[in-house]
Amino acid sequence: YDDRDGFIWFDGKLVPWREAEVHVLTHALHYASSVFEGQRAYGGDIFKLHAHCERLHKSANILGFQIPWSVEEIATACKEVLNSSGLKDAYMRPVAWLGSERMGVSPSGTKPHLAIAAWEWGKYFSPERAAKGIRLTIAPWRRPAPYTAPVHSKASGLYMIAMLSRKHAEDTGFDDALMFDWRGQVAEATGANAFFVRDGVLHTPTPDCFLDGITRQTIIELARKRGIEVQERAIWPEELESFQQMFLTGSAAEVTPVGSAGPWSFEVGDVTKQLAKDYDDLVNGRLPNS
Ligand code: PMP
Repeated sequence: YDDRDGFIWFDGKLVPWREAEVHVLTHALHYASSVFEGQRAYGGDIFKLHAHCERLHKSANILGFQIPWSVEEIATACKEVLNSSGLKDAYMRPVAWLGSERMGVSPSGTKPHLAIAAWEWGKYFSPERAAKGIRLTIAPWRRPAPYTAPVHSKASGLYMIAMLSRKHAEDTGFDDALMFDWRGQVAEATGANAFFVRDGVLHTPTPDCFLDGITRQTIIELARKRGIEVQERAIWPEELESFQQMFLTGSAAEVTPVGSAGPWSFEVGDVTKQLAKDYDDLVNGRLPNS
């Protein structure tokens, strides 16, 4: 990804893509003092831009540092990056981290940095696989307890277990992994939230140890607008066999139907298809964006 044309917004200015580099003694590389966002632009508009910029700020605050640009300034920078890319449909990655000003576990003496890149990223999961429902394995790692890790920050460090779980899935022929949490409850996939459907009712785990995704919140809103009942609650694996449909939500994953998760299988049913369409209509400006 480093060898291409274009520009990356880096600490306040657009720099050539190949020159957007950091030093090997960057604090974040050693101690995971890094937070990021993932957002998509559709037809030149960045979906839920403000919410993503706010979450980036909050993620950094949870890790104990302050991004030296305001939420508004970051939003403006994101638009600048998108314009400079010439792309209308793009994936965007703002990332904030502590730099190489000082070495050691202590963050004191380091400075926060911010970069924003945009590139073309088609569907997160192969559209052929998604049409039938992607196949999930059960992750060998669990989402940690809120007292074990800063679980509500979109912190790079938390992606260690996501990365290992995703690798395990791919190594064993699956598309992704369903993660349980430290209690054994159903949590989410490695980069997307999980929803289930039973008899027309939507069920989704309470986000008490993982991100309450912006797409997740959007889907709950869209479902309620359609009069679909939504239950946010603890979901135990024992219940999975009683669900007829499952799908994932995320800025990258959008709404992706799931065909199976471990031993449990699901159909790509009406509720999933309806909400996938509603989401597609909303992000492409065919529904009012509330
Ligand atoms: N959980 C994880 C681990 C993620 O990486 C993401 C993607 N940011 C989500 C959930 C969904 O969040 P959002 O809908 O805000 O993209």
